Amino acid sequence: HSKEQRRGATTLFSQEHKDAIHAEQAVETALRTADLAAEMVLHYQPILDTETGRIAFVEGLARWTSPSLGQVGPDRFIAAAERCGMIHTVTLLLLRKALADGARLPPETGLSFNLSAHDLASPETVLAILAAVQGSGFDPRRLTLELTETALMRDFDHAKAAITALRSLGIKIALDDFGTGYSSLGYVHRLPLDKIKIDRSFMVDINTDRGCSLISTILDLCRNLGLDGIVEGIETQAQLDVARRHGSRYVQGYHIGRPMPLADLLQRMDHDAGAVRRRA
Ligand code: C2E
Ligand code: MG
Ligand code: MG
Ligand code: MG
Repeated sequence: HSKEQRRGATTLFSQEHKDAIHAEQAVETALRTADLAAEMVLHYQPILDTETGRIAFVEGLARWTSPSLGQVGPDRFIAAAERCGMIHTVTLLLLRKALADGARLPPETGLSFNLSAHDLASPETVLAILAAVQGSGFDPRRLTLELTETALMRDFDHAKAAITALRSLGIKIALDDFGTGYSSLGYVHRLPLDKIKIDRSFMVDINTDRGCSLISTILDLCRNLGLDGIVEGIETQAQLDVARRHGSRYVQGYHIGRPMPLADLLQRMDHDAGAVRRRA
């Protein structure tokens, strides 16, 4: 490489890097001045119980439309909220919305909600979560809180204490995106969990022998630990067939349904129930 080319590459990289930092700062700035209650909503994605053919749970997924930035994805604004100390506010605002939405669900349908890695490390946040659930009138036994491995590994002892407190109310705990972090197997059995959500990256290799045996090994692990396994990222009928063949009772993914406004999902569930009644 010539000196010219090298300098070109360095400049290009640092400009991209600068742009990325500016974009992240723009999200933080917009977040600080946002009318969060008005600008943020939850969409819901169905989780199918393949044994009953019913939608057993709906997972709330945050959506933010900023007046200045337009739509910002949850991966970006949750990270920004964590950086600028707003995650407590964002989590509680979204949780209250989810619990209020939960009142519109059929009584046999569960509600799943994602917590940030920072939430469990803060005793104030955990107490506020407990209070929000108790004050909502929503049956805590129908609520699942999803945590990532990062959240649990950040501060294992605090996380464990928080999980124990949440579960004492009847709340279920799911380990989200299982398999994407590290040292997964080492601590999974040391935590009081109810469910494991197998990350969708495992679905990508499902057509290979190796990919198949990975999924079935994780599902075996879930069974042995007495946990519900949920396979994420089902995008095709073929993937659904493989997941079922390997004993996955619960599945989630675009093939089952995309995240959508609650009204749309309720309409679909109503329609599904009608179809079940007509078949019966
Ligand atoms: P997650 O909890 O693992 O949620 C699943 C993500 O995968 C969602 O992306 C969903 O739209 C996407 N997805 C579902 N099925 C498929 C599929 O078949 N194929 C593909 N390619 N993607 C699929 P989304 O909505 O962008 O959320 C990304 C992440 O942001 C979530 O991952 C969750 O960790 C986080 N998140 C979302 N809402 C909240 C929230 O309210 N609070 C917190 N703390 N985090 C949230
Ligand atoms: Mg999740
Ligand atoms: Mg997930
Ligand atoms: Mg994910």
